[in-house]
Amino acid sequence: AMSWHQNWPRQWRSPDPKPEYDVVIIGAGGHGLATAYYLAKEHGITNVAVIEKGWLGGGNTGRNTTIVRSNYLWDESGLFYENAMKLWENLSQELNYNVMFSQRGVLNLAHNLGDVRESIRRVNANNLNGIDAEWLNAEQVKEFCPIINISKDSRYPVMGATLQRRGGTARHDAVAWGYARGADDMGVDVIQNCEVQGMMIENGTVKGVRTSLGDIKAKKVAMACAGHTSVVADMAGIRLPIESHPLQALVSEPMKPVIDCVVMSNAVHVYVSQSDKGELVMGAGIDAYVGYSQRGSLHVIEDQLASAMELFPLFSRTRMMRSWGGIVDTCPDASPIVGKTPVKNLYVNAGWGTGGFKATPGAGWCYAHTIAKDEPHDLNAPFSIDRFITGALVDEHGAAGVAH
Ligand code: FAD
Repeated sequence: AMSWHQNWPRQWRSPDPKPEYDVVIIGAGGHGLATAYYLAKEHGITNVAVIEKGWLGGGNTGRNTTIVRSNYLWDESGLFYENAMKLWENLSQELNYNVMFSQRGVLNLAHNLGDVRESIRRVNANNLNGIDAEWLNAEQVKEFCPIINISKDSRYPVMGATLQRRGGTARHDAVAWGYARGADDMGVDVIQNCEVQGMMIENGTVKGVRTSLGDIKAKKVAMACAGHTSVVADMAGIRLPIESHPLQALVSEPMKPVIDCVVMSNAVHVYVSQSDKGELVMGAGIDAYVGYSQRGSLHVIEDQLASAMELFPLFSRTRMMRSWGGIVDTCPDASPIVGKTPVKNLYVNAGWGTGGFKATPGAGWCYAHTIAKDEPHDLNAPFSIDRFITGALVDEHGAAGVAH
């Protein structure tokens, strides 16, 4: 700081691409970078490039509302997200990078009897899987989050909530930067401003990628490109059951601390936390149409703010500062796809939709295992593409229904 920020060391290199790598990862979001980090750290595979068409962390990783929790319903997802949660709990130490993981507690509100039944069922399922989860009645919700409106006169009164005390938020950029620096330290090339424009495939086996900086050969290629997964998979002739939708978020002007937990509501559809800078960070649902525009429609923001007013009348005179959008890759069962593809040595990590930030360390860890061993880890085996053929879907619309 004394040197006017002029002599700080670079956190990672900006290398030119080599002609060939053992593994090329497409997409330098949190998932791609975490995968590269664990490939190097856990499997000793360091001849790896992460290819990014824009700037590192500039996709959904840098655009999300940073909510982290593991209270999903089914065993498959519960165990997967809980593994991620355990990695989060040690991530700042692991990366020697402060990712500002704050376990401030996440409330998922229930506003009708259907919500109440589903929520209590989920608390029980979570507890059976060793995941911390509690059911709070409306008064207990008010005690935990005093500014919330639990009036019975509101359109959808708060009837209770699930609480995961270990859930919370993390600093999204820091997650991408920490993984990038860690991977770079171990020899991984992070190549920005390089777009993958085609795949080299011979006899059903991927041999490399065609990029805006030329062809790069690779023994294995791994997609981690979120909203653009369908576009990239199409380059390999693969059609995935994924739709891409805009998802927006916004922040208010900074203010003194008023809310020290995360509140999510599916029925009225808004989720709120307060950043360390004091801004209220608010998310909503996806825009209904498909698209790649990284912006959304005004009516979604209007609904989102109306919902926020209903739950937090205190915010009524708060000014909103900026809004933005990302492109989320949604699967029909609201669960991700992490595994092999019909093309040999080509792998896919996608379908995280509105909720993949929380999975970042766990997804990277499992994806690295899958790529290194050419077979899924037990934790991501249920999330293969095959489930759309066998019908063994992992329906998480209840837990993931509220976009987050
Ligand atoms: P990204 O960070 O999007 O990275 C993919 C990268 O691939 C991008 O950088 C892109 O430029 C690159 N790419 C694409 N195509 C190519 C190509 N052809 N060549 C080279 N590079 C390419 N999740 C939560 O858990 N909690 C939340 O609170 C939450 N809130 C959200 C709020 C919003 C507004 C949005 C948009 C998302 C939210 N999510 C949340 C979801 C979460 O952000 C994503 O699931 C997660 O960040 C996906 O990470 P990723 O690394 O896979 O994708």
